[in-house]
Amino acid sequence: MRLSRVAVTSVVLGLLSFAAYVAAAPRPVAQPPMASVTADLAAPPPLLRTERHEVREGDTAGSILRAMGAPAAMLTAAGNGLDRLSIGDEILIDWREGDSQPFRLRLHHDPAFTFEIARTGDKYKARQVPVPYVVEEMAAAVTVTSSLWEAATSVGFSPSQVINLAKIFEYDVDFNTELVAGARFRLVLDRLTDDDGQQRVGDIRAAILDNGGKSFTAIRYRSADGEVSWYAADGSARRKAFLRSPIEFSRVTSGFSSGRRHPILGTMRAHKGVDLAAPTGTPIRSVADGVVTKAGWAGGHGNHIEVRHEGGYTTGYSHLSSIGVKRSEKVRQGQLIGRVGSTGMSTGPHLHYEFMVNGVHKDPMKQIVPVTKPLPESEKPAFFALRDQILPQLEDAHEITRDEDAGG
Ligand SMILES: [Zn+2]
Repeated sequence: MRLSRVAVTSVVLGLLSFAAYVAAAPRPVAQPPMASVTADLAAPPPLLRTERHEVREGDTAGSILRAMGAPAAMLTAAGNGLDRLSIGDEILIDWREGDSQPFRLRLHHDPAFTFEIARTGDKYKARQVPVPYVVEEMAAAVTVTSSLWEAATSVGFSPSQVINLAKIFEYDVDFNTELVAGARFRLVLDRLTDDDGQQRVGDIRAAILDNGGKSFTAIRYRSADGEVSWYAADGSARRKAFLRSPIEFSRVTSGFSSGRRHPILGTMRAHKGVDLAAPTGTPIRSVADGVVTKAGWAGGHGNHIEVRHEGGYTTGYSHLSSIGVKRSEKVRQGQLIGRVGSTGMSTGPHLHYEFMVNGVHKDPMKQIVPVTKPLPESEKPAFFALRDQILPQLEDAHEITRDEDAGG
């Protein structure tokens, strides 16, 4: 197997700036089908130039297109196709000789599709163009020197792929507080090569995370009915009833305690939850399936949500800038229920997160919670065959550097 060697370099990028990134970059969703462009049969004038813009924090589709000299008609034609830009996405605008307006915009957002707005006559139309590519399996290791974000992007992961990688292990490790320097991911993943020889990282098939003396193995398996899930090497489910944290990336600024000085009141009182610092607007997820029992203003807690889960568990989320659910609504694990804010008695944007067992407040960071259903017996032979093929590849995965492109 040919391995592309990719360097893991060390650039300090704190979790806070990553949290800022996450807030500004919602995960991509499948785009609705767009009207297709009528073929222009006349030979087009030659391409004059292509302008590139890498999406940065604070950019909007409108600000980028204006800065690149694209007409308003292009933005109108985009529909919702440019609504979900991620930091690091590249927008290309192509100009032809003799034209006063660009003839095409391209956005490579999803590895499988290019979002394109092209001009026919004087009209712009948007569509999704499938990107043809060859898929090869490869093994690679990534060592975290400063942050998961830095390590994974340096080996070619897109922003959304970094989040997907974190999601595989989000039941085991709280990436806010528990990922140690020197943590190592070994991965078997797809490498996609397009017509121009450009290579990109595709889906992850299996992964081992070694973190602070603990090791976790995750293997992606598609069951006979088409459902894709992650399992441990023994076939047990990796999905647990509770996520480790309601925010994907943040940092704990104030832990659980039975007595501390309140930052506003100045008095001693218990802090019955943890404070997770994250920028205003950062998505908050329900940590487990459940039913919303409170959703509204709650005095010092500001905008507040409470969710009741099976087994006597309740979770609380306070100081939100917005609430995305209603009382009595059923929510799923990982569902966006609100956004980080600083409402109520709060000194800055953060999530105050509470975890109760039978009405008693517990430290959310110390909870050990039940696991969900295992792989069915009928699926085990196929799963174990996949495991026995993929585990040796995983265990052999080594760090790769971008400079060398080893053949053979
Ligand atoms: Zn708090």
